[in-house]
Amino acid sequence: MTMAKDATVREPDVTIEDSRPEDRGPAAVGIEDVAVRFRTKNRDVTALSEVSLDVAMGEFVAIVGPSGCGKSTLLKLVAGLLKPSAGAVRLGGEQVRGPRHDIGYVFQRAALLEWRSARRNILLQAEMRRMPGDLARRRADELIEMTGLGGFEDAYPHELSGGMQQRVALCRALLHEPPVLLMDEPFGALDALTREQMNMELNRIWRETGTTVLLVTHSISEACYLADRVVVMSPRPGTITEIIEVGLPAERNYTETMGRPEFHDATTHIRELLGAASAQD
Ligand code: ADP
Ligand code: MG
Repeated sequence: MTMAKDATVREPDVTIEDSRPEDRGPAAVGIEDVAVRFRTKNRDVTALSEVSLDVAMGEFVAIVGPSGCGKSTLLKLVAGLLKPSAGAVRLGGEQVRGPRHDIGYVFQRAALLEWRSARRNILLQAEMRRMPGDLARRRADELIEMTGLGGFEDAYPHELSGGMQQRVALCRALLHEPPVLLMDEPFGALDALTREQMNMELNRIWRETGTTVLLVTHSISEACYLADRVVVMSPRPGTITEIIEVGLPAERNYTETMGRPEFHDATTHIRELLGAASAQD
């Protein structure tokens, strides 16, 4: 940055209340008044309506809402796999106009190639993106270490537990160091204990990588355990009912976090919001 020649140059007029950290640069993800309508042979479905959300760089946002309210649709919009019928989606200030390669995507099913080892499943990402081999292998090794897969890199998917398979999928999604990680019910198929473990690991990985995360989950406690903010959606057509600030420090610890009043207040409030929504069905 160069120094201003005129020492009397004024700072822009910004009041303290207006200068939230995310105002310093473009949002990592900007969703602006988005609607999605699906036209099928027999009917039109409005999946999303008037959805606006800014996610700051490095923020962790969870999305909860009843089945069919458009959560997966919202992630697909961010990834550029779907075009909105109205409104716009931006990544780092740039409008999304087609499939984006600078994101990571993790689904409920790990979707690994059965004939490839864990390591070679992770490296698939590098092959698809033509990343330099040395860099990709180094990064894969770091991620294998970070996710506790060390010693299992040569195992095939059928030799891995569900949790381990999801760890491989997470490594694959993070290999190219995407600024934005999209996760669609990634732990939905895991048993409760493994899920807890994955939650703790995801919290650590998020802090270590500084990546922005958008996580769709059915679990209110998972959402509040992991996220800075939780977006609660209404039944179809999906709109945002409320955005809850969880108000917990970034570093979380299962038993300690769950005992905190902020955690209790956030989960209770979200449960009430979702209960009220389903009572209207
Ligand atoms: P959620 O992930 O919240 O369960 P989805 O985003 O998958 O919900 O779907 C929202 C709504 O849009 C549902 O009613 C679903 O049937 C409909 N929908 C999703 N994708 C399509 C599609 N490709 N064609 C037609 N309807 C779709
Ligand atoms: Mg879904």
